[in-house]
Amino acid sequence: MALIVQKFGGTSVGSIERIRDVAKIVKTELDNDNKVIVVASAMSGVTDHLINLSLQVSNLETDDQRMEYDAILATGEKVSSGILSLTLQSMGIKARSWQGWQIPILTDEFFTKGRIKTIDATTLLTSIANDEVPVITGFQGVFNDRVVTLGRGGSDTSAAAIAVASHADRCDIYTDVDGVYTADPRIVPNAHIHSYITFEEMLEMAAAGSKVLHMRAVEIAAKFKLKLRVLSSFSQAQGTEIVSKEVGMEGHQVTGIAIDKNISCWEVECPPDKQNHFLRLFEAFEKNALSLNQIIMVDGRALLVLPSMDSIRVNSVLTPLGYKPKELSQLAQVSVIGIGVKADSTILQKVFKILSVNGINILAANTSGIRISFLVPESQGDSAVICLHDGLGLENI
Ligand code: ADP
Ligand code: ASP
Ligand code: MG
Repeated sequence: MALIVQKFGGTSVGSIERIRDVAKIVKTELDNDNKVIVVASAMSGVTDHLINLSLQVSNLETDDQRMEYDAILATGEKVSSGILSLTLQSMGIKARSWQGWQIPILTDEFFTKGRIKTIDATTLLTSIANDEVPVITGFQGVFNDRVVTLGRGGSDTSAAAIAVASHADRCDIYTDVDGVYTADPRIVPNAHIHSYITFEEMLEMAAAGSKVLHMRAVEIAAKFKLKLRVLSSFSQAQGTEIVSKEVGMEGHQVTGIAIDKNISCWEVECPPDKQNHFLRLFEAFEKNALSLNQIIMVDGRALLVLPSMDSIRVNSVLTPLGYKPKELSQLAQVSVIGIGVKADSTILQKVFKILSVNGINILAANTSGIRISFLVPESQGDSAVICLHDGLGLENI
């Protein structure tokens, strides 16, 4: 008997029909004499809808406002976990939904982007011991009796953390594609599926915008040596296993191409005493819980790349401090990930050549570790992914 955490994403629970299929996947594991803990995302489109409603009435400038935003967003997962529990019950399976605060899953105080501090698994383990299937709301925890959400895509992180806290044998992330590919298969139809990928590679892919796995879920799994798989709730395909370096051996020269379109770029002029101004800038970001993906500083000017969700607050945070932030037109960040970026200098050369031959306009580039990232006009983002995938021959790796 094994204890398995199964997480189902938005499309997997996107309709009653889909939820019935998901319930069958849960039942299959139970029929194999395994115990299951389920983590559910909101039904597809629901979180987007709730965000849209909230942003019509607030710019989320204060903690009080972000607290309400989290209370609104958390409702999506409450519905899907309840419907999935009811569906399991209708199949004769003892199931019970649990919200993050009921477990409890304790987070820090950063509303809209909370990080999990601790999970007390006692309630969960009692539920399992009573032959129940706990169905837990993903994406949320609690701080001082207020619900806190974990950031977009955060249900994966809920699942990984719950798996660690309950000493599960593995964590299966069910989604709407067959596993982790060399690029988003919706952009590159002939992308190659990885049967395994190392934690290091997956972390970079996720950090660079491959939303198939939330980066913090990968971090948790790597830290606690959790067995993590990505697989489809729509097919019987084997999926992708995330493995340690020792198992992954040397890996691939290039693991994949990622694109992040959910970014916003700002140019900020800094007055003469540069050091202090950069410091004040960082302090303002920190104090207001604004995330920074990247910062490029040249000659008293800074180019800031941040998640687009945070961009609505840049003006209200920086203008009172005397900065004049200017938003640059729509950009996307395209990244090439693989140990070859670090180990094989010809890869960099190849990458720049492919982009140049294909007329891709590079506005900024930087490399770090096993990743090289470029800022390109958003309108050229998908083409950049396709030509890099093709030019580097990734369909055949
Ligand atoms: P879920 O709702 O199941 O959490 P997400 O939409 O968060 O699903 O993530 C799955 C999506 O990630 C896929 O539909 C795919 O478009 C996208 N994706 C981006 N990069 C990759 C990649 N390298 N491999 C597989 N899917 C990817
Ligand atoms: N429902 C949340 C989102 O859409 C969390 C998740 O799906 O992982 O971002
Ligand atoms: Mg997701």
